Amino acid sequence: MKIQQANATWRNWSGSQYSSPQIFEPKEINELQTLVKSHAQIRVVGAGHSFSALAKTDEVLIRLDHFKGVIYADEATAQCTVQAGTRLYELGEYLAPFNQAFDQSRRY
Ligand SMILES: Cc1cc2nc3c(=O)[nH]c(=O)nc-3n(C[C@H](O)[C@H](O)[C@H](O)COP(=O)(O)OP(=O)(O)OC[C@H]3O[C@@H](n4cnc5c(N)ncnc54)[C@H](O)[C@@H]3O)c2cc1C
Repeated sequence: MKIQQANATWRNWSGSQYSSPQIFEPKEINELQTLVKSHAQIRVVGAGHSFSALAKTDEVLIRLDHFKGVIYADEATAQCTVQAGTRLYELGEYLAPFNQAFDQSRRY
């Protein structure tokens, strides 16, 4: 479950933030529960695209990449709930079976 030892370097997307955490990538919910119970300070990281030090830690960093996919989808309301490790670029693939899509129109 641990994929990176202490003193190895984690970097965010831009490389402006870096630290030396122990990185864990739990595969099962019980592994995640054990991590949460056994560490007082934890950060979770997604794609690491934040420019600020939000995910930076020298303690425990958790990646939820094994927790992907749709938990609940309602075709009538076009709403869905997905697992916390689901990346935006993957959403279309996961939502297609439910006749849903992710609107990535340029709003920013
Ligand atoms: C090239 C580029 C373009 C961008 N363009 C835009 C834009 O147009 N508009 C805009 O609004 N933003 C933009 N951003 C910013 C980006 O969308 C945000 O920083 C976003 O939060 C990054 O998501 P992430 O999953 O990489 O988060 P991370 O950087 O991995 O984490 C951000 C925060 O969320 C927490 N977190 C992440 N995943 C989880 C999880 N599964 N559970 C609990 N907490 C979690 C982390 O602990 C941290 O506090 C851009 C970033 C880049 C690099």
